[in-house]
Amino acid sequence: MALYDVITFGHPTLRKKAKEISVDEIDQEFIDDMLETMYEKDGVGLAATQVNVLKRLVVVNDLKSEYVLINPKIIAKSEQQETDTEGCLSLPGFQAKVPRHLKIIVRALDREGDSVEFEAKGLLARIIQHELDHLDGILYIDRAEPDSLRMIMESDESSLKEISEKELTDFFKDNFHAERPDVEFERVQPLV
Ligand SMILES: [Zn+2]
Repeated sequence: MALYDVITFGHPTLRKKAKEISVDEIDQEFIDDMLETMYEKDGVGLAATQVNVLKRLVVVNDLKSEYVLINPKIIAKSEQQETDTEGCLSLPGFQAKVPRHLKIIVRALDREGDSVEFEAKGLLARIIQHELDHLDGILYIDRAEPDSLRMIMESDESSLKEISEKELTDFFKDNFHAERPDVEFERVQPLV
């Protein structure tokens, strides 16, 4: 078992589209390491893209069940949407209000390579939509409601500061590798 570093905003991989995985490519050790990384970082979901692996694989834990979804697709979604707060391990310290479909039907392969199809609602539906977006290079800030972006204050986690998208970009530019494309990103520790 190993823990991965989670790449953060500004890393070019986060904007790339991940590739489908064939059944014989399914790597059980990688899946275990993804799960371990998600739990270690108190995440409710993690996409392979976030550990700098451009494969269509996500792990999810909605506080009820654990899911490993390979080549996941949303095959149906409710018209009804719901707006709620989201954060992301790749944008540590920030959150925003994001509208998501309330109900979705997901088709994927499980970790054994068997086809699964299920309905997800509420929090689970939200997490899956967020994680699937990562596989297409989309971040929650792309879908967030205008002016809803907030920075979580280190001094008091319940206190939030309103910030603009430009400030967000600047924040990560100062602290991260966006200007240092030659560094080996996998070894860069995320800001916590
Ligand atoms: Zn995320």
